[in-house]
Amino acid sequence: MIRFSVAVMRGCFGGCTFCAISAHEGRIIQSRSQASVVAELEQLRDQPGFTGVVSDLGGPSANMYRMRCKKPELEAVCRRLSCIYPAICPAWTATTARS
Ligand code: SF4
Repeated sequence: MIRFSVAVMRGCFGGCTFCAISAHEGRIIQSRSQASVVAELEQLRDQPGFTGVVSDLGGPSANMYRMRCKKPELEAVCRRLSCIYPAICPAWTATTARS
């Protein structure tokens, strides 16, 4: 399943206590550039056995591509373990770009 999948981001803002992803990849999402993702897709295209189907574009838990805190200055000093628990943080955004 993962042979023809592409990781486009790292991390998880969920901070679930039963899961280590936030601990080892970080709570702040790190997203790859579109050029980097396209370059990997072009390499995938040339792999033996590739049928033209990319099985997944995503990350370690769910696809959180470019999701992040609305306030970079707050994000830099924030020590919360989760952006969404026990309540969704007012600084959180589900959109994919910072304003
Ligand atoms: S301020 Fe809120 S949205 Fe921003 S990083 Fe902290 S918990 Fe997440």
